[in-house]
Amino acid sequence: MRLLALKPRQPEKVAATITAAVNQRLIRLLCETCRQAYEPPAALLEKLGIPKGRVEVLYREFQPPPPGTKKRKGEPEICPDCGGLGYKGRTAFFELIRVSEDMRRALVEQPRPEILRRLAHEAGSLSMQEEGVLLVARGATSVSELQRVLKQ
Ligand SMILES: [Zn+2]
Repeated sequence: MRLLALKPRQPEKVAATITAAVNQRLIRLLCETCRQAYEPPAALLEKLGIPKGRVEVLYREFQPPPPGTKKRKGEPEICPDCGGLGYKGRTAFFELIRVSEDMRRALVEQPRPEILRRLAHEAGSLSMQEEGVLLVARGATSVSELQRVLKQ
């Protein structure tokens, strides 16, 4: 869509050369030492599009106990592995859209994001959101981190 927004003289020729589009985001990985498991509410699973019963727990970054709570003996104040950030390291996740003939036609005739998104989905491409949810379901990152990254 960005290429065609440059108003080339022969948009169908430009569209014919596009074979795929890649979208990429970086996302922080939860610190495996201090991440906290929780049972996701059914409404959250539904919102994420995770079928019921597929995951038992999701993970979130360490939530400090409320002030005044006694810490257990020998428990360090701050996670030694992430320095209390709750995250350690990053990974990339990708959306790969293979451009079909239908999409090429749409690019020339009605280049609207919702139409292209629907065609990509019908062709079996996972969206950024769906790719990110796979990372959340694996416990690699948190829902809040995915939301932050997708807002960018
Ligand atoms: Zn940690």
